[in-house]
Amino acid sequence: MKAQQTSSDLIELLRELTEAFGVSGFEEEVREKIRARVTPLAHQVEVDALGNLHAILNPEQEFTVMLEAHMDEVGFVVKGLEKDGFLRLAPVGGWDVRLLPGQRILVRGAGGKYHCGLVGSIPPHVQEAEEKNRVLGWRDLFVDVGARDRDELRKMVIRLGCVALIPQSLLVLGQETVMAKALDDRAGCALLVKTMESLAQERPPWRTVVTFSSSEEVGCRGARVAAERWSPHLALAVEGTMATDTPGVRPEQMVSSLGRGPVVTTMDKSLIVPEKLVEKILDTAEKLGIPYQIKTPLMGSTDAGAIQLSGKGVLTGVIAVPCRYSHSPTSLMSLEDFMHTQRLLEALAREASLIYKEIGL
Ligand SMILES: [Zn+2]
Repeated sequence: MKAQQTSSDLIELLRELTEAFGVSGFEEEVREKIRARVTPLAHQVEVDALGNLHAILNPEQEFTVMLEAHMDEVGFVVKGLEKDGFLRLAPVGGWDVRLLPGQRILVRGAGGKYHCGLVGSIPPHVQEAEEKNRVLGWRDLFVDVGARDRDELRKMVIRLGCVALIPQSLLVLGQETVMAKALDDRAGCALLVKTMESLAQERPPWRTVVTFSSSEEVGCRGARVAAERWSPHLALAVEGTMATDTPGVRPEQMVSSLGRGPVVTTMDKSLIVPEKLVEKILDTAEKLGIPYQIKTPLMGSTDAGAIQLSGKGVLTGVIAVPCRYSHSPTSLMSLEDFMHTQRLLEALAREASLIYKEIGL
């Protein structure tokens, strides 16, 4: 019964966070949902000019640990307004354009009023044979929000620079797989909320800054400012990372797999995690009997790269939950992986001061 309760609470948290709108730079809906959850737990809560949300325990202490996940998700920006009321898009973050035709889309009008629409492309019936085999580009796509001309778009307050995403409701597949949009990185945000709940009870005697950052998908902008703001001694970025255990992927292309526990980064495109910190993370997992996997080196990059390079340099690691189909309209995650990652993150956060001392910087 207790286990069932835990998992239904977790699903509700994931539903709330993944269904919220949070294209890079427009994370306010996600931020407010998280703020409502962490405010009763933290000694201090701040939002900075980039939109990063910081929840702090023991703000007066000097030794500082930062736990960080990004709130933003990949989406689109309106780049053109056609005279017959169609919109043209450009990507915000990395997208596979082949996945988009026929999808529902949610356009955020300036000021925050949402409008549904459809991503359209040239109908196959009117395409020439050679056009049918051509790979689509952004120029082939448009959005139909039901407007007949630019004047109607103006009345909907849809203008250049408005952002959009593909909306999805969270579904539970089978016993313990969650299908939702934006698990990269709302899974990380949910992990930080859960960890905050547990740290608020135990109150480790140093400053813990839990940062929910903005604009990772467009160059790790929020995390850079957050790390400068707090100068942490030790930082852990928490991600929803690529799982590539699906048909057609060759073994040498494998990044991580669903169901094999938290993913530990040693080196990616923007970060080399000091070997001693990797050892501490792996030792902690082993001591607790938590399964783990090491992420294939040099795949992807995260906010951790920006945090590591801030100030005088920060001891920084990454742990992640494997998620299939990241940067597409929907993604999949195992709740069991999530819970293993949560246990590992909580243990690392609880022992942060000792880990820092033993690494001996
Ligand atoms: Zn991410």
